[in-house]
Amino acid sequence: NSKSQGYNQYSFFNSELNSKILRKNEIELLLKNANFDKEFELYYQPQIKIPENNLIGVEALLRWKALESGHISPAEFIPIAEEIGIIVPLGEWIIKQAVMQISKWNNLYDSDLKVGINISPKQLDTPNFIDYVLSIIKTYSIKPSWLDMEITESIAMKGESTVQSIFATIANLGISISIDDFGTGYSSLSYIKKFSFNKLKIAKPLVDNISTDSSEAQIIKAIVMMAKTLGIKAIAEGVESEEQLKLLISLQCDEVQGYIFGHPLPASEFERMHIKQFANK
Ligand code: C2E
Ligand code: MG
Ligand code: MG
Ligand code: MG
Repeated sequence: NSKSQGYNQYSFFNSELNSKILRKNEIELLLKNANFDKEFELYYQPQIKIPENNLIGVEALLRWKALESGHISPAEFIPIAEEIGIIVPLGEWIIKQAVMQISKWNNLYDSDLKVGINISPKQLDTPNFIDYVLSIIKTYSIKPSWLDMEITESIAMKGESTVQSIFATIANLGISISIDDFGTGYSSLSYIKKFSFNKLKIAKPLVDNISTDSSEAQIIKAIVMMAKTLGIKAIAEGVESEEQLKLLISLQCDEVQGYIFGHPLPASEFERMHIKQFANK
C-alpha cells in the first residue's frame, strides 16, 4: 500500500537508518557463520572485596574477533545474537568456557573464586537450560557455588512464572544469582526478597558521579543498606578512581569491580596479573 511504500522510500533515502540496517545485517550474517572456538574468547575482570582488597571473583566478558571484520563490541552484537537466537548455543559455549576456567583456577590455586556469567533472557526461556548447566557442573566437577549468574534488573523483575521457577531451581542448586545493572530500572523490594537473589550489582551510571554529597552517593548508600537488610551483597560496577573507591568503602559497599582494579583480560593474562598475587589461600 501507499503508506508502506512511502515509509520504504523514506528509509531508503535516510542514509543513517540505512547504514544501521546494513550493519545489523552484516553482524547477523557474521554471527550465523561464526566459529565460536576460533572467533570468541572470554575475558575476565576481577571482583574485589573491600576494604581488604581480596580477589573473590571474576566476571566473564565475551569478546568477538569476527573473521575479516575485526573486534565487535558485545554491546553491539549481544542484542542481535539474542534477536536471532544464536545467544542460546553461544550462551552454552560461554557457560562451558567459564566453568572450565574456574575449575582450572580453583583447583590449581586451591581457591574459591566465583565466576560471574552474564545470562540473557532467551537462555532462561530455553527448556533445557538447567539440564545443560547441571551437565557442565558435573562434567567439570565444580561446586555450584562457584557459579554466579548475572541477570539484568529488567529481566529479573519480570514476574513470569517460568522465569520465577527457574530462579528457584538455580537457587536450590546452590548457584548464586546477581542482579546486573541494578538501579537503572525499577525493582520491587518484595520481589528481590522473595527470590533470594545473592547480590546487587550497582550500575556504572550511578557509580560514575559519586562524590560525598551527591544524590548518587545517597542512592548507593540506600542500596547498600537495603542489601544488608536482606542479607545479600552489593558490588559497585565500573569503579575507576580512588575517590570513588574511598567513598564506596565509607558507604560499606561489599565489593567493587572496575578499571581501578583491572580491565577485562584474557585468561592467561588475568591469571598472571591477578590470581597469582591475590589467591593466596
Ligand atoms: P555488564 O555485564 O554490565 O558488564 C560490565 C561492562 O562494563 C563490561 O563491558 C566491562 O568491560 C565494562 N567495565 C567494567 N569496568 C569498567 C570501568 O571501570 N569503566 C568502564 N568504562 N567500563 C567498565 P563489555 O565487556 O563491553 O560488556 C558490555 C555488556 O555486554 C555487558 O554489560 C553485558 O550486558 C553484555 N555481555 C558481555 N559479555 C556477555 C556474555 O558473555 N553473555 C551475555 N549474555 N552478555 C554479555
Ligand atoms: Mg554483567
Ligand atoms: Mg553490569
Ligand atoms: Mg550491562
